[in-house]
Amino acid sequence: MSSPDGPYDDEDVAGGLFRYDYRAGTVEGDNTKLRRAMDLQLPVILLRKFASGSYVPIFPVYLIDDDRGRRQFVVAVDEALRFLHRPSELSEVERRYAERVTRHRLHQSMFRGMVVHAYEIRCAVCRLRHGELLDAAHITADSEETGLAVVSNGVSLCKIHHAAYDRNLMGISPDYRVAINRRLLDEVDGPMLRHGLQEMHGSTLVLPRSHRQHPDPARLDARYQAFLAS
Ligand SMILES: [Zn+2]
Repeated sequence: MSSPDGPYDDEDVAGGLFRYDYRAGTVEGDNTKLRRAMDLQLPVILLRKFASGSYVPIFPVYLIDDDRGRRQFVVAVDEALRFLHRPSELSEVERRYAERVTRHRLHQSMFRGMVVHAYEIRCAVCRLRHGELLDAAHITADSEETGLAVVSNGVSLCKIHHAAYDRNLMGISPDYRVAINRRLLDEVDGPMLRHGLQEMHGSTLVLPRSHRQHPDPARLDARYQAFLAS
């Protein structure tokens, strides 16, 4: 279980791999169980706290080194990092690769948790309340330099609205209005098109209670211009 000071507290990733502090005051106790999981190469679930009483599970993760000097376990948060030769002495290339993979894995999980939580586990467009059908959609793509994994760069959307938004079949204006692609509005098809998409045209986005978690209008505008041009 880890409780970062902030969702982007990356101190624990600085060396390339996620480091988990020993339980305070002892080298045994709970640490013995983690050490055993490392010896047996058993997968572990890492729970990252993002709000009071709310955790994001990241799994499977593996303990790949026991750094007794720094009183930390070194954790591979992705299968790709499990077989690094010497986790405590990474080469420059390995370190950069590991850091990228680790940050991505931790941030994406936290991003989803924080965004879906901010919208009270609802799709911002259709209000669907099934967490397993919800995603945290990026407004500015995470592949772009400014695509930070912050709540104001996200919208909680169900799978169909997420895909429609990513493909510019649905747009969201900077004043939080939903728009559906003109060609789709003219199509005739079954209930998903009619109720799920066409009837959302002109509706208002359901927003988080907290103002500072609202989607950033400047980011929305950039995406909306791309939607209008498509
Ligand atoms: Zn939806």
